[in-house]
Amino acid sequence: MSRTARVLDALGLGTVWIRRDRLAEIEAANAALAAEQMHDHAATAASPAPAQIAAEAVAPPAPVKRSPAPVVVIPNPAAKPVSSLKIEVVNDARTERIAGLDWAALQQEVAACTACALCHSRTQTVFGVGTLEADILVVGEAPGAEEDKRGEPFVGAAGKLLDNMLAAVGEKRGKQVFITNVLKCRPPGNRNPGVEEVAKCAPLLRRQIELLQPQVIFASGRFAIQTLLENDAPVGALRGKVHSYRHIPVVVSYHPAYLLRNLPDKAKAWRDLLLLQQAIASARANVS
Ligand code: SF4
Repeated sequence: MSRTARVLDALGLGTVWIRRDRLAEIEAANAALAAEQMHDHAATAASPAPAQIAAEAVAPPAPVKRSPAPVVVIPNPAAKPVSSLKIEVVNDARTERIAGLDWAALQQEVAACTACALCHSRTQTVFGVGTLEADILVVGEAPGAEEDKRGEPFVGAAGKLLDNMLAAVGEKRGKQVFITNVLKCRPPGNRNPGVEEVAKCAPLLRRQIELLQPQVIFASGRFAIQTLLENDAPVGALRGKVHSYRHIPVVVSYHPAYLLRNLPDKAKAWRDLLLLQQAIASARANVS
């Protein structure tokens, strides 16, 4: 089996053949779609099966299609999208109180949280999955429709891909790997998180990290990376090296929902996983 085939197999996808002279075109089309696809959990649930993705990859790249449907604007100032703005966590009384909570109290805090408008549209909060014994923390963006329904992060197609990615480096969600999101509530319509929403939710994530004390953090997607590293550079510019969040090594990569629609970037994600594997081995060696 070729290296590419092994990579795709490890990521849970079939072999894909892309003509070398078409790769640049396909990457250009993917780049145009990247911003709107990266966060789209709803689209993830409806993502085509890997076989369909493979079929699309060998077909000529379709022009970017715009839906003729009218754009629905959600009149919520908190929904100002995270772009190049730095996310500022307000150090107010709430943030201070959250900083003193234990694990059980933090779970209750999240379950009852009304700090931003997302509390009105959620079915339930999504605290995370795993145990306090986990030494790896995966941080994604926000719950999608399925996560909102089930109360667990990274379910559906993106979740399956994440599980396959973790399995490829010998890890599994649960005991050793805790998985959570920057936002604990689903943005309506699966829109991007807003700056204020991220700022309000960030103290909860920060406390989760303080209590978990993970050996390594895997930041999945732009919003997680931007929140943890306070760096608004694109994922492509930040991947490939180990960063740090409060002295905890951070490996960054693309969100699985993005990878499901951007085949050429899966090889990069594989390299990120190898870096993650090295960071985990190094961190575990230091504690043993
Ligand atoms: S998204 Fe975060 S800050 Fe907003 S209501 Fe949910 S838990 Fe609270």
